[in-house]
Amino acid sequence: MQFISKDYEKLMVDLSCLTNELQKQLQGTDAYMIPSEIQLDADVPFLVQVHPNIQSEGYQNIYKQFRSFFLEKYPKQEDNINKLWNFIQKNESEWLRNTFDINHLYFQEAAQRLGLSDWLPMFMAEHLIRPFIRVMAEDLQGYYQKLKVSYTCKFCNEPIRLARLDKEGQKEVVCPRCYAKWNEKKLQCSVCKEDNHEKLIVLKIDKDELGQIQLCQSCGGYTKLIEQKRLIRKNAADLLDLYSIQFDYIAQEYISNHKEKFENDESTPH
Ligand SMILES: [Zn+2]
Ligand SMILES: [Zn+2]
Repeated sequence: MQFISKDYEKLMVDLSCLTNELQKQLQGTDAYMIPSEIQLDADVPFLVQVHPNIQSEGYQNIYKQFRSFFLEKYPKQEDNINKLWNFIQKNESEWLRNTFDINHLYFQEAAQRLGLSDWLPMFMAEHLIRPFIRVMAEDLQGYYQKLKVSYTCKFCNEPIRLARLDKEGQKEVVCPRCYAKWNEKKLQCSVCKEDNHEKLIVLKIDKDELGQIQLCQSCGGYTKLIEQKRLIRKNAADLLDLYSIQFDYIAQEYISNHKEKFENDESTPH
């Protein structure tokens, strides 16, 4: 069964390659800066608390390369992307602050104000910042590893949904957006951190022999566990997330067919 169209898959794979290439260019440069003294709240993702300073020149350079890629895919959008880039240059610090906050409303309003399709500003903001946040997540492991954030990525605030299992069964949670990663107990919900085994349901995905889905009766969430030993290629986290999209369908279907198992006692009126 085909879960995503070939065109969509190709766009995502090409975007992943481009982002990896741009990330490599930024490694070891002074493309971003963080304050020298940081007091972190352990329950809040790093980028929600700390907005690094992005160097204008570096951001422009990433834009130029992204622009060529984008216009190959969407040639009719040339005027629109120019209009948007003018807007970004005039409002750079505000644009970047809203990018770090993933403020959909701000990008929708920008689209309306500039007469652009709704998706374009958010798409642009997201793909221009990704190479930066991936470099940061690699550089700043010492800061975010010790945070105790539930539900979202400790670094960038993306919802948690994916982990790798190595040959020894060690679980590593990975973020498909920023590539942040951290180790965790195998029998623990990666979303809400529940470790009562009775609250976890494990679905083995035999057909694809790729892994399992861990569903949690405490939070109603799930994590896709991809077994690395069975993978022929060691894909980057964003592509693992894409190629395991059938796991999402299976998990969501299971949850909607077994609602009674996921009813939260505390929220049920007595
Ligand atoms: Zn992340
Ligand atoms: Zn949970």
